[in-house]
Amino acid sequence: MKVGIVGLGLIGGSLGLDLRALGHWVVGSSRRPETGDRALELGVVDEASPDLAIMAQAEVIFLCTPIEAIAPTVAALRPHLRPETILTDVGSVKAPIVEAIAPLWPNFVGGHPMAGTEFSGVEAAQRHLFAGRPYVLTPTDTTPPTACETVAAIARSLQAEVYECAPDIHDRAVAWISHLPVMVSGSLIAACEGESDPLVHKMAQCFASSGFRDTSRVGGGNPELGLMMARYNQAALVRSLQAYRDRLDQVIHLIEDGQWDALHEQLQAQQQARPAYLK
Ligand code: NAP
Repeated sequence: MKVGIVGLGLIGGSLGLDLRALGHWVVGSSRRPETGDRALELGVVDEASPDLAIMAQAEVIFLCTPIEAIAPTVAALRPHLRPETILTDVGSVKAPIVEAIAPLWPNFVGGHPMAGTEFSGVEAAQRHLFAGRPYVLTPTDTTPPTACETVAAIARSLQAEVYECAPDIHDRAVAWISHLPVMVSGSLIAACEGESDPLVHKMAQCFASSGFRDTSRVGGGNPELGLMMARYNQAALVRSLQAYRDRLDQVIHLIEDGQWDALHEQLQAQQQARPAYLK
């Protein structure tokens, strides 16, 4: 199959590596010509051009730009495409993207591979990024079933686990497990940086080990991604942050009051709940 990728960064580049390894012909387009050149050198794509006309040959196109560029990219792509071309995106938020693109291109299915690293750009592309990870598709009543089936088949070929749900359900669910963690993890780093005693601050940096590495990872990633999550999933994220703040207040009270039994009960409940979120 001829597959197009617009936006050759971490996600687009990783898709390109895997799709080429599966035998697809991959054409790429990125904003800066040097990114396309580098993608060719890294074996991410078979052909590259910043000119979206290169996408005319693609049967399926993955839109992998930052969220704010996805709908404008579709508007710019339209003149180059045949009606049967399937478009799908990888944006971390779905409702606003699906709403914006559905009127522009009927043969579109929203998508979100739940995979990433703290790195960005084409250099960060890696094989097997999506293997064993959820890949969410958000078809609506007007999405052609063939578009959804085609994208699902490609996602399965990447060894991803495919899920389908409505765009707003996706956005509320990822607010909990993806967007809230970015803000919490980032606030953890910011709080440590607020330590006023220079010696304690320095020692904290020296003593930080695997626990801090795990808990700070998503908060120390690509700032643009966090900003886009907040801008495009504002209501669901604020709701999750408020619920999280309430939880923190409860924990503070338990610790201040020395309610160790109640705190222990809560820690036990958390320990039992965690495995259901991990695969
Ligand atoms: P990234 O590494 O920064 O890659 C995005 C690439 O798009 C950049 O390298 C940039 O390349 C290119 N680009 C920017 N504006 C463009 C435009 N207008 N037209 C064409 N190319 C453009 O970001 P990413 O992490 O891959 O994220 C891309 C998308 O994946 C986002 O929508 C994000 O929500 C989604 N996503 C990210 C993750 C994650 O954890 N990182 C996970 C799942 C989904 P040049 O400017 O150099 O050409």
